Amino acid sequence: MKCPHCDQENTLVGANCVHCGKPMTPSSATSQPTQASSSVTTIIPYTNPSALIGYYLGVFSCFPLLGLPLAIGELILGFMGLQKALRQPESKGKVHAIVALATGSIGLSINLLVCTGMLFA
Ligand SMILES: [Zn+2]
Repeated sequence: MKCPHCDQENTLVGANCVHCGKPMTPSSATSQPTQASSSVTTIIPYTNPSALIGYYLGVFSCFPLLGLPLAIGELILGFMGLQKALRQPESKGKVHAIVALATGSIGLSINLLVCTGMLFA
């Protein structure tokens, strides 16, 4: 049986690996990271990067001028993320995508107002 920690073959099947001394049971080695990652993906949609990037672009899209390309990118990413979230519900990020679309449209309108204001000023 191979050790899940150091990949060394263990002829004696015991509770701990003879090479690295860590527990040999694969369940204890794998259950913890999967539990942690599943709880993390609920908060941070790793599997839906477009939704996540779009969501974080929303923070910066409120800045005038700099926010204009960000708001456009945010709308595209939010749309892509929402489509992915609807196709694959397990990928999550639906809320992030909706937030990205909402803040993207707000950011875009603010920036368009600022730009037109500057043109006419
Ligand atoms: Zn080992």
